[in-house]
Amino acid sequence: MPVPLTDLTAQYRSIKAEIDAAMSRTLSSGSFILGAEVESFENEAAAYCGAARGVGVASGTDALHLALLACGIGEGDEVLTTPFTFIATAESIHKCGATPVFVDIDADTCNMDLGQMDRHLTPRTRGIVPVHLYGHPCDMTRVMQFASAHRLKVVEDCAQSLGATWQGKKVGSFGDAGCLSFFPSKVLGAYGDGGMVVTNDDAVADHVRVLRSHGSRKKYFHDMPGFNSRLDSLQAAILKVKLGHLADWLERRREIAATYADLLSGVDGISLLAERVGARHIYNYYTLRVAGGALRRDGLAMHLKAQGIATAVYYPGSLHLQPVYAALGHHRGDFPASEAAQDEVLSLPMYPELTDSQVKQVAAAIMSCPDFRATG
Ligand SMILES: *Cc1c(COP(=O)(O)O)cnc(C)c1O
Repeated sequence: MPVPLTDLTAQYRSIKAEIDAAMSRTLSSGSFILGAEVESFENEAAAYCGAARGVGVASGTDALHLALLACGIGEGDEVLTTPFTFIATAESIHKCGATPVFVDIDADTCNMDLGQMDRHLTPRTRGIVPVHLYGHPCDMTRVMQFASAHRLKVVEDCAQSLGATWQGKKVGSFGDAGCLSFFPSKVLGAYGDGGMVVTNDDAVADHVRVLRSHGSRKKYFHDMPGFNSRLDSLQAAILKVKLGHLADWLERRREIAATYADLLSGVDGISLLAERVGARHIYNYYTLRVAGGALRRDGLAMHLKAQGIATAVYYPGSLHLQPVYAALGHHRGDFPASEAAQDEVLSLPMYPELTDSQVKQVAAAIMSCPDFRATG
């Protein structure tokens, strides 16, 4: 039986009656932009994150962009972030007129190596965008200590980590703002694009609210240059249904991750990423490292594909080496841990409806690859 990377239709089948009812309620309401569905979802999602306010926007990318603007990031500013993330993280910093300043990653989690942040501080540094990659939270105690010592704004990229906790507290509730993505492949996925800024700062929430609607507080009166970036009512209604299932889905993801870890921990040439003490990883992606470089990693991916098992590489190109950032003047060798990770990471099928026998099938397929044999 083929095993996909994720299966959105299986999820829909499991909650079809609830989703269909929410959609038909919204369609009958005749209200499609913002309104009651969006407001009630904003309140529930913010509460879920342990934040006071939530502002729905059109995507996770917009959530980052608008949150950074609302935190006052602009022309000439520098913002510390990781080179090992989806382009949207750095792109949002860039769109504010600021410069993304990359900090290399820690090989065991693939998150930013917080010990290296001070090397990249300059008088222009104004903020940090920590990315909780794959669903593993950054050490937010340390991020917030560093930020307060250097008067930096913190905008958390929670696109892959909704529901993850650091020392019992949800990500998104530590910084000045937390940014959620409802892209379909994320743990809380819409049937289209969507995003949200969560925050405990009323001024940030109000600023994002104005930015998302053409810089306007009152219709046809405009206080500042803004955007058209709103969460659709239909998506909000769908997401509200799904949010009710999220806790169970995240538990199941953790169970699957534990099974993968059991089955794969003794395999020579494969190393599992860490779950740090104090961290609750929610496994938006189940990613491991394949020793020996990109050819060997891609060979394993091809071996799995031949057996109907899908995998993905998040991400094959560190951002500092991308043509779009050529002007930053980086070279191969600048961020060695990120460059090693791009050649070694491989993400396995991961979604709550995945069965134990499928997980075993994936592990068995890895061990049947001539390059990889259990030694333990
Ligand atoms: C998905 C993602 C985003 C962007 O979210 P969109 O909703 O696709 O715009 C930003 N950062 C990270 C780390 C992501 O995975």
